[in-house]
Amino acid sequence: MRNVEVKTESLADRDKKHLWHPLTQHKTSPEMLPIKKAKGCILTDDNGKEYIDGISSWYTAVYGHCNQYITSKVAEQMQNLDQVVFSGFTHEPAIKLSEALIEILPEGQQKLFFNDNGSTATEIGIKMALQYHHNLGNDRKVMLAFEEGFHGDTFGAMSVSGLSVYNGAFEDHFIKVKRIPVPSGDNNQEVIKALKKIISEHNLAGFIYEPLIQGAAAMKFHDADGLNEILKICRENEIVLVADEVMTGFGKTGKYFASDYMEEKPDVVCMSKALTAGLLPMGLTSCSQKIYEAFYSDDLAKGLFHGHTYTANPLACTAALAAVELLVSEEMQVNIQNITKANLEFVDKLKDHPKLKNVRSKGVIFAFELDVKTDRYGGLRNQLFKFCMDRGVFLRPLGNTIYIVPPYVISEKELQKLYSVIEDLLREF
Ligand SMILES: *Cc1c(COP(=O)(O)O)cnc(C)c1O
Repeated sequence: MRNVEVKTESLADRDKKHLWHPLTQHKTSPEMLPIKKAKGCILTDDNGKEYIDGISSWYTAVYGHCNQYITSKVAEQMQNLDQVVFSGFTHEPAIKLSEALIEILPEGQQKLFFNDNGSTATEIGIKMALQYHHNLGNDRKVMLAFEEGFHGDTFGAMSVSGLSVYNGAFEDHFIKVKRIPVPSGDNNQEVIKALKKIISEHNLAGFIYEPLIQGAAAMKFHDADGLNEILKICRENEIVLVADEVMTGFGKTGKYFASDYMEEKPDVVCMSKALTAGLLPMGLTSCSQKIYEAFYSDDLAKGLFHGHTYTANPLACTAALAAVELLVSEEMQVNIQNITKANLEFVDKLKDHPKLKNVRSKGVIFAFELDVKTDRYGGLRNQLFKFCMDRGVFLRPLGNTIYIVPPYVISEKELQKLYSVIEDLLREF
């Protein structure tokens, strides 16, 4: 190997030459901050400045970055089996992971289909719903989704997502989708009415939903009773229930899955993000026996002919298995309960604040709106971001919403620092 010549330019400048970052308009965005190290809840930049990772790096690294238990398991696996085709072969990491996940998934989940990220996890959820009806000979080709939902950036996932301002170039190619508002509690009856009307007018194949919390819609919460009623009506009408738990899964709401808050259970569950604890990319779509059976046939064409090259990568499976082991441990459950309690106390403290709206929390997720008008990625957002970063806290405000999703291993002191920077921010803005 040839040695790469020593560069004198800064990383931020070299970044600009060849790299194109996600969700970024490079012409107007500030330059990218090089991060050198991540350990536990702390990110360290190339100048040695430390930041508390207040959103677990997009809800992935919930057991802390470079978690010793997970990295050592993966390092061991790396010596034995790195990658093998998962069509025709199988391996212990995938098998063990399936057994561990079935234990904690919402009741009724039976089969796991591997993929690479959250978008492909929902893409397959959508495919399962559409092909389920296709295989049964039903003419059902329309998906139902919530307004303002977010399910990813591939075509199927984009189609069902409601945040469409950035999708203008693609909209002509979307699958058919009907939408209902989220049930807020107050509007439940209107939502049910709208749902029944759509059911009577369209042949719905499936309903894809982020249970209880819409992450990308800026941590918008909705009503569990209302959602349960929607799920019940969909089930009575044989609409496949696809729970997108990519954000809400693995303990963030205080239960293993947000679906655990509802009596009606999903037919399909989409997972990613915290699935592999921030270590390796992977997605998973699980389904009930009933869904699986519609694909189980002597007819080859009834199978699910979808497969990604890195399907069930043994290293990613090993990371996910170690993550589940940590999640179910008493220590981690106590951590989650402690953050939940601290968040509730912080809600109590801020709920009557004159500058704030919708101060709320569920599990480790805490959010509120600043009572000002702004656009989603606008100027205020950048000011809020910078204010927190200057004070050693990484948060990613969306418009006027500020939220935290801290790693479960955050210390009492680090959590109090997150809260106090938020209080400083309220004095400033
Ligand atoms: C992040 C997210 C996705 C997309 O996952 P990617 O891994 O970014 O493709 C889908 N659904 C929800 C609810 C998400 O939060």
